[in-house]
Amino acid sequence: MIKLVAMDFDLTMFDYKRPADTRVLLGWFEALTKAGVMVGTASGRTAASLRHEIEAIGMAWNRPFPSFTIVEEGVILTHEGVAWPGLATRNEDRGAQIYEGNLRLRPLFELGVDWALKEGIPLERRIETGAHGINVVFNTPENAERVRRRMMTELPGEEFNLVRNHHIVIGLPVGCAKGDAVSDLAQALKVPAIQTLVIGDNLNDLCMFEAAHGFQTATVGNGLPEVKAAVAGRAGYVARGEIAFGVAEVFERYFEELAQEVKGIGLENGAVATG
Ligand SMILES: [Mg+2]
Repeated sequence: MIKLVAMDFDLTMFDYKRPADTRVLLGWFEALTKAGVMVGTASGRTAASLRHEIEAIGMAWNRPFPSFTIVEEGVILTHEGVAWPGLATRNEDRGAQIYEGNLRLRPLFELGVDWALKEGIPLERRIETGAHGINVVFNTPENAERVRRRMMTELPGEEFNLVRNHHIVIGLPVGCAKGDAVSDLAQALKVPAIQTLVIGDNLNDLCMFEAAHGFQTATVGNGLPEVKAAVAGRAGYVARGEIAFGVAEVFERYFEELAQEVKGIGLENGAVATG
């Protein structure tokens, strides 16, 4: 049985246009936690931002979700926002690697922005650096992809990855992405990769689906074609439902034995959204 579930947040379990939909997962979070399964998120957001979104839809943070948070594309924290026990040094080492990477990738990002502006592609947000790596936000996913492809031709060495999350282009040193963080957390928890389930929707989630990690994989109905192909290639589950409804479908597939219990919880606390 799966012991650890790491989910991307935006457009995997959370729809910023219909945030309350995430409440359909409340019954599942309760049943999974009761069954001893660790369920958490692996996001590019900060812990405070995740907590804000969850509380804004009337869900109590850590009651029962999340058991852990992987934030800023790879920092491993408890739900209280402190380093996971035993992984503080790991987070610091990653931070140092990211800092170096941000410095080395800055000229590439400036080149990308100059090229985008020449092509008439507007920025939605300027270049930002932090524990999430270096990123820049364009107006549409299509334009972000055009700029990313242009930047790929100038990548300063094989030790960096340039990925896209919707309309954000993200630069990270190899080994610093979400997939590596899930792997490090699973190892710290002594959960084998085969008992770890990862769920995502976008290109920056592909790092969690790499065969080298050996996780069980799933995606939602709105997952990008590349993501669906990666999951199918790993014999994972591609849900039909979108975002939170898709995640519920993934849980039904992987935790069939808990489905009845979840229905009961849903009726008791009204977790099943109506609108
Ligand atoms: Mg996402």
